[in-house]
Amino acid sequence: MAIVGGKWSNWSGGVVCKPRAIVRPKDELELAAAVRTGVAPVRTPGTGHSFTPLNATDGTIIDLSAFTGLTGFDHEKQVASFAAATRLWEIGSLIHPLGFALKNMGDIDRQTIAGVVGTGTHGTGPTLGSFSSAVAAFRLLLASGEVIHCSPTENQDVFAAGRCSMGALGVMVDICVHVRPIYKLAEKNFLMPFDELWDKLDHMVGANRHFEFFWFPYADVAVCKTLNESDNPAPEPRSAEYMQKRGEKRAADASLFEWINEVLPYAPFLLRPAHRLFSGGMSAGDRVRWSHEILPSARTTRFNEMEYAVPYEKGPETIREIVREIRKRRINTGFPIEYRSVAEDDVWLSPFYQRKSATIAVHQYHRVDTGKLFDMCEGIFRGVEGRPHWGKRHTRRRAELAQLYPKFEDFRQLRQKLDPDMKFLNPHLKGIFEG
Ligand SMILES: Cc1cc2nc3c(=O)[nH]c(=O)nc-3n(C[C@H](O)[C@H](O)[C@H](O)COP(=O)(O)OP(=O)(O)OC[C@H]3O[C@@H](n4cnc5c(N)ncnc54)[C@H](O)[C@@H]3O)c2cc1C
Repeated sequence: MAIVGGKWSNWSGGVVCKPRAIVRPKDELELAAAVRTGVAPVRTPGTGHSFTPLNATDGTIIDLSAFTGLTGFDHEKQVASFAAATRLWEIGSLIHPLGFALKNMGDIDRQTIAGVVGTGTHGTGPTLGSFSSAVAAFRLLLASGEVIHCSPTENQDVFAAGRCSMGALGVMVDICVHVRPIYKLAEKNFLMPFDELWDKLDHMVGANRHFEFFWFPYADVAVCKTLNESDNPAPEPRSAEYMQKRGEKRAADASLFEWINEVLPYAPFLLRPAHRLFSGGMSAGDRVRWSHEILPSARTTRFNEMEYAVPYEKGPETIREIVREIRKRRINTGFPIEYRSVAEDDVWLSPFYQRKSATIAVHQYHRVDTGKLFDMCEGIFRGVEGRPHWGKRHTRRRAELAQLYPKFEDFRQLRQKLDPDMKFLNPHLKGIFEG
C-alpha cells in the first residue's frame, strides 16, 4: 500500500482512491473517535495487498499502523493475541522465542493479521484451514464506537461472521489465533509431467503436509512443491529486521522475469519458450527452515490476480479446462496458474465454508489488461460453484453470492444490525451486500 499526495493505492497499483481524510489513531480511544466522527465510507486497510477495491473510499481511511505487537499469550490453550495491524513477518519473531508458530501461512508475509483474517487468506494443505479458521477470539469496534468481545462463547454470531468479514462489520482491534509448537519444514521442488501428476495428485495432496503446483499454461510439466515436517538441522531463525527486508528482496532472476513479461504482449511467439524457461527456473533447490521462514516467499514483480475455491474433487478438471481455453484462445500471459488445497471451516463467508476445496489462482502482469483471462476463468469458475477469494479480482454480486454461501443472508442481517447507517460500506461492499 502507498499513501502519496493524499491518494491511497493498493500493492498492485490497480486500486487508487483519494479519501477526504486519512487518520492515524494512536490508541483505542482515538480509534473510536475516528470511526464515530469519520466521513463515510470509513475503511481500515491493512497493507493493501488485496486486488479488489475493498479499501477504496472518498470518505475516511483509518491507518492502523500504531496497532501492532503481541498483546497476550496463553501457553495452555496455545493461543496468541496480536494487535490487528501486526504484520505476518513480525509474528514469527514474536512467538518463536515462546516456542510457538502459526499453523500455516500463504505465499507471502507482508500482510497484516486483520487483513488476512478479513479475506479468508489461505496457504495449502488438505488438513489446514485459512487464517480465518485459526481465529480463537477477537475484539471488534463497532460503528457506534463500542467494543465487543467475540469468541465461541461471547457474541457467537459475530464470531462466526466476523472472522471473514472484509471490515464490513467493524474494526478488529486485536485477534487471538490458535498456534502450535515450533516446527521445521523441508522443502522439495520438482517438475512432473501432467499425465503422471493427474494419476498421483490425490496421493500427493494427502501424503504431504503442504503440496501445491504451478502450471505455466504453455508448458507441459507441472512445477511441484512439497513441504513436510523435518527434524533435520536448520539455520537459527532470523531477526524481525531481517524478515522485514527479506520479503522485499528481489530474486536474482526477477529482472529477467519482468523483462519477458514486458515483451510478451508484443511477442506471442515467445510464449512457449518463455513458459518452458520459467518452469525450469522455478524448480531448483531443496532446504530445511523454521516454518515462518520457509512458508512465505518474496513477491516483488507486480501483478493482478483472480482466485476461486472450487469443490476439492472438481479441481483437476477445472484447471485443465482453464488451460485448454487459454491455449485455444491464445491468451497471452507470463504467469503460472497456482493450484492448492484447503480444509473446510465453519466461518460464514469463508470460501471454505463446509467445503474442502481446491483453489485455483490466475495472474496477469500489472501492466497487462486482465479482461480476457479473468473473464474467461470466471465463467469456468461459475460453472463449478466456485467461491471467489474476497481479496482477489471477481465480479460477483449479492444475488449470486447468496446462492454460494448458505449463511449469506444471516451475514447481511447481522451487518445491518451492527452498522445500520452503512458507515463501513464502500461501493464495492454495497455491491456485495446490498446490490
Ligand atoms: C503478492 C501477493 C501474494 C498473496 N498471496 C496470497 C496467498 O498465498 N493466499 C491468499 O489467500 N491470499 C494471498 N494474497 C491476498 C492477500 O493475502 C489478501 O488480499 C489480504 O487480505 C491482504 O492483507 P492486507 O493486510 O494487505 O489487507 P488489505 O488488503 O489492506 O485489506 C483486506 C481487508 O481486510 C480488512 N481489514 C484490514 N484491517 C482490518 C481491521 N483491523 N478490522 C477490520 N477489517 C480490517 C480491510 O477492510 C479489507 O476489507 C496475496 C496478495 C498479494 C499481493
